[in-house]
Amino acid sequence: MTRTTTDVAIVGAGIWGLAAHHFLRRLAPHLKVQLYEAAAVAGGAISTIRRGDFLFEPGPNSLLDNSPELRRLLDETGLAAQIVEARAEAARSRFIVRGGRLRKLPTSPPAMIRSDLFSLSAKLHLARELFVRRAPADAEETLEQFVLRRLGREFLDYAVDPFVSGTFAGVPAELCVRSAFRRLWNLEQNHGSLIRGAIKMARERKKTAAAAGADEKAAGAVQAGPSGKMLTFADGLQTLTRTLSAPAADRLTTGAQLQSVSRNDSGFVLGFDGASGALEVGAASVLLTMPSHAYANVRFNFDIPGAALRDIPYPPVTAVFFGYRQYPLGAPPEGFGFLVPRVEQRRILGTLWNSSAYPGRAPAGGAAFTTYIGGRRQPEITTWDDERLIAAVQDELRELMGIETAPDEIILRRWERAIPQYVMGHPQVMSAIDAVEQAQPGLLVGGNFRGGISVGDCVSRAFEAAQKIAAHLPVAAG
Ligand SMILES: Cc1cc2nc3c(=O)[nH]c(=O)nc-3n(C[C@H](O)[C@H](O)[C@H](O)COP(=O)(O)OP(=O)(O)OC[C@H]3O[C@@H](n4cnc5c(N)ncnc54)[C@H](O)[C@@H]3O)c2cc1C
Repeated sequence: MTRTTTDVAIVGAGIWGLAAHHFLRRLAPHLKVQLYEAAAVAGGAISTIRRGDFLFEPGPNSLLDNSPELRRLLDETGLAAQIVEARAEAARSRFIVRGGRLRKLPTSPPAMIRSDLFSLSAKLHLARELFVRRAPADAEETLEQFVLRRLGREFLDYAVDPFVSGTFAGVPAELCVRSAFRRLWNLEQNHGSLIRGAIKMARERKKTAAAAGADEKAAGAVQAGPSGKMLTFADGLQTLTRTLSAPAADRLTTGAQLQSVSRNDSGFVLGFDGASGALEVGAASVLLTMPSHAYANVRFNFDIPGAALRDIPYPPVTAVFFGYRQYPLGAPPEGFGFLVPRVEQRRILGTLWNSSAYPGRAPAGGAAFTTYIGGRRQPEITTWDDERLIAAVQDELRELMGIETAPDEIILRRWERAIPQYVMGHPQVMSAIDAVEQAQPGLLVGGNFRGGISVGDCVSRAFEAAQKIAAHLPVAAG
């Protein structure tokens, strides 16, 4: 048994743990911080695979630059200078399958009026949204109930349902609108209408941006705020986790699986199964960032809502990468890709057109696509063997995009537990975790099941956790 002590122990070195480590070094350089990760490498869901001129991201493909903390992280690590933004045309062009055809998702009111994605009655229903009464703040609704009440069935089927499978790999009938789509819920609560709220917020953003621009000009500042754009890096998103891991190298223990957490007078004692035997770590403060299902295998000597954490569903998803050295249909499609609504009854959730969105994903004249399968909608399909899955993707791309030719490169990545679902009851589980943190000062619970699943949300919450730890330990514990 190896024994060691530290001021802060961070468990899990996905983006949550790595970002928290980065911010802690900045906010509290006096503290000794150690990271413990079960896998052989840091990064968690973020990884990048390069095969010749093809680049495949089995997990996240893009960051949405809409969080000040993510912007701060990119600035402080020097990564802001390496950002590759999504091509403007691609960022504007997303498609939804309707009636077996790809139709452009409208992104402005005039485009909505012209759109062939929605019927006239759906468009009129949308206009009625302005007059739908707001739900009481304590009403618990699924996203489906919320959207049906405000926007109608067609909007649910052809906009919200595909969006939810493209982000959460989830279904609107299960997700709790207040936890999973807090911004949407706030629009109704604060403005009484999503449309009215969205217009007001857009106006406010414009005003703030103009004022910030004037201030920055006056002060000669060069630092920009979040751009709201989709972005990545030339070598993929792993650039982010690699850059964050580098300064953590001598503080990171990989192959260390958390087994137990005990409270004692001076803080906490963590027990790990390490690559080289058992490891015991004494820490004044602990930040847990592993997925909620991992709690099932950890013993605590104080109360935690273990069963509720274990029961948060994580559906399986398989990402299937197709690379074409020469795109068989001439010019590759322009756009970010397409999503498939459940009512279309197909075998895929959607396809990202990686090489259209970002440069350097495929050789010149070629194309790279990633198709997602399974999710909460069709978990059973992820049990198919590779051959059957690949054939299904080829069939779907033939029918929807007209591609008859087999790809030159195929890579499959199976996620047994992809993304946590913020289902009904999620706010209560989160309140129970708040109570644990209150009862156990120095303990913080993070991870993407809490406060947002996007990489940007994880970074924002990690910043808040780092602030709390810095405030809890104003001087080193010793
Ligand atoms: C297929 C897919 C596509 C996605 N696409 C996007 C996208 O385009 N944009 C976006 O913003 N987000 C996307 N996401 C979501 C985003 O990637 C994740 O929410 C985020 O990366 C999760 O970070 P995390 O640190 O919370 O968790 P993780 O990355 O899962 O890290 C948790 C870490 O804890 C470790 N761990 C587990 N148990 C233990 C234990 N007992 N002891 C020690 N360590 C342990 C794990 O090994 C892991 O490294 C996608 C996710 C998936 C799966």
